[in-house]
Amino acid sequence: MTLAPIPDRGGPAQPLLLVKDLSKHFGKSGSVVRAVDGVSFAIRKGETLGIVGESGCGKSTTSRLIMGLIDPTAGEVIFDGEHVGPGGLSVAEFRRQVQMVFQDSYASLNPRLTISESIGFAPRVHGLSREATNARVRDLLAAVGLEPDQFAQRYPHELSGGQRQRVNIARALALRPRLIILDEPVSALDKSVEAQVLNLLVDLKAEFGLSYLFISHDLNVVQYISDRVLVMYLGRVAEIGPVDDLYAHPSHPYTRALLASRPSMDPDHRRTTPPLTGDPPNPVNVPSGCRFHPRCAQVMPKCSAAEPEMVKINADHQAACFLAETVPA
Ligand code: SF4
Repeated sequence: MTLAPIPDRGGPAQPLLLVKDLSKHFGKSGSVVRAVDGVSFAIRKGETLGIVGESGCGKSTTSRLIMGLIDPTAGEVIFDGEHVGPGGLSVAEFRRQVQMVFQDSYASLNPRLTISESIGFAPRVHGLSREATNARVRDLLAAVGLEPDQFAQRYPHELSGGQRQRVNIARALALRPRLIILDEPVSALDKSVEAQVLNLLVDLKAEFGLSYLFISHDLNVVQYISDRVLVMYLGRVAEIGPVDDLYAHPSHPYTRALLASRPSMDPDHRRTTPPLTGDPPNPVNVPSGCRFHPRCAQVMPKCSAAEPEMVKINADHQAACFLAETVPA
């Protein structure tokens, strides 16, 4: 067995991952937590889709639902045109093609396994010979910037946080996946190390022909790494669009408030929009109508009565707000 890369099926126009109406409600009627509530989006082949939002917005639950780590209340995941689950692509095969990297680099690694054993574990389970596995481990360590002779036999506690996260990335690449879900992968790292790991991710994406789903609360990091950005608020998509368009012309008051809340280094580019105020989102008590209405600077009477539909701003940019308007091409 060679564990060869999995070939493309539907061509470049077919999304790599489609998420349709995904929901996860916890608890019983009366006190239902709507962690994710009807989320739909696509990840295109070769792109990085960033998901941004405050804690409690449902972004991490979304990633766990996609991976099948928790069962959805409703919704469907389609990978390269194939439904994931009974009658379609098996969860085992899906998990070979889609890997995850988490925030906590230490908890993700078995402290009793050497770095080499950790990275080689999945290829060995999938039947790769010991020799081929060792060669792959060395190639992967080199690819993530860790000298194989120096690091292969070390244990996780002998590494820095940044080095451990590089090992986790190497491990995620070991089965030659097509999509990597990165859930706050640099949030625990120092700023200088964060930049190095982000640059590494950019290089690896090109080298291995990957697509990324990149989840973060940090708007600057998401701006740097993403091709398109999805803004989540209380389990719903508030806005989605190409990174430059969305950051330059945010259409949802929540996106505007999020962007206004981040510190600007340039006094000429200070934003005039009021920053975020009010209570942070709480998925136990989801407000009626537009979920953002208790915190929205532009709230109108109808906002608490009805939920706004997604409005197409332009071909690739949408926002769920009554004030969002289509911009003529
Ligand atoms: Fe604000 Fe109303 Fe738009 Fe919601 S629908 S974001 S409350 S203006």
